[in-house]
Amino acid sequence: MNLLITGSAGFIGSHLVERFLAEGHTLVGVDNYISGQRRNTELFLAHPGFRFIQADVSHGLPYGGPGLDWVLHFASPASPPHYQQHPIETLMVGAQGTQHALDLAHRHGAKFMLASTSEVYGDPHVHPQPETYWGNVNPNGPRSCYDEAKRYAEAITMAYHHHKGLDTRIIRIFNTYGPRMRADDGRVVTNFINQALEGKPLTVYGDGSQTRSFQFVDDLVEGIVRLMQVTYHQPVNLGNPDEYSILQFAQIIRDRINPTLNIVFEPMPQDDPKQRKPDITIARELLEWQPQTDLSTGITATIAYFQPSLTR
Ligand code: NAD
Ligand code: UDP
Repeated sequence: MNLLITGSAGFIGSHLVERFLAEGHTLVGVDNYISGQRRNTELFLAHPGFRFIQADVSHGLPYGGPGLDWVLHFASPASPPHYQQHPIETLMVGAQGTQHALDLAHRHGAKFMLASTSEVYGDPHVHPQPETYWGNVNPNGPRSCYDEAKRYAEAITMAYHHHKGLDTRIIRIFNTYGPRMRADDGRVVTNFINQALEGKPLTVYGDGSQTRSFQFVDDLVEGIVRLMQVTYHQPVNLGNPDEYSILQFAQIIRDRINPTLNIVFEPMPQDDPKQRKPDITIARELLEWQPQTDLSTGITATIAYFQPSLTR
């Protein structure tokens, strides 16, 4: 297959590039590096099946190559500090960027996948969250640039499916972690691991009773590949239902790296969801998929990635 992936220099995008090249497909990666890393592109530049275009997909997708089988739209800042630092760019990539990616897929008769998010559920009143839950999102709070952009992106994806016959997929990704995240991206996994590796206190926001469910990136990539092999147009949750409070998670990371470190409490950010855990019944039944990597194994791989980067 010939695939185009937006956001290819990001954390998840780079793992998709790696997987598809390993399977013998050809790939075009597109990224503007707003939250990605050049070294995630450099990993693949020597591969004959890989080509990279540096472009802002909100302004268009300058692809003039051979026919495409898939357009995978993963471009978007994803960590709360990143998207709150770039709220307009985040809204634009969810809106114009998604439309450009949909139009490209339509021109090529390609299939299309949207990387949506558990953030469409906002601060959920239903727990765990099934795909049928409509969510509880503040439409103009500090997280709205991301949440509402993704909700719009889902809406326009379904509109292209129903009105233009595009063959679409929507995945709702729950908190995912692993190697190639940016050490400074401000998400909880990277913050806690890097704070602990540097011998600093771990910063828990609020009292740490809010929960998240952490999925290792290899499990997500497997779920994506399986969804590409079936025909299903409704959103599909991809996440690990193993749920932890953030305080528990801080204790796990601290005890793995340096049990003498302190945990300090800082103010809770506005509109921070109090609980999050995916209902993965659809993915289990449709894709015969469920996460295979437990937290301990995934964290070991992630710590191993960040440890040498301290001395780079
Ligand atoms: P990331 O920030 O590491 O990667 C996103 C990539 O998109 C970056 O390389 C960035 O430079 C690029 N990008 C952003 N705007 C762009 C634009 N206008 N034009 C071109 N490139 C642009 O984030 P990630 O964690 O890899 O997330 C990838 C996708 O998955 C995002 O769409 C995100 O919303 C979604 N997602 C991720 C998670 C998670 O836990 N990691 C959870 C839910 C959804
Ligand atoms: N968090 C924290 N300390 C940090 C970073 C994040 O306690 O240094 C909390 C944050 O308030 C949220 C959870 O960890 O409740 C997950 O945050 P993250 O930014 O990773 O992703 P989110 O799920 O909020 O998008």
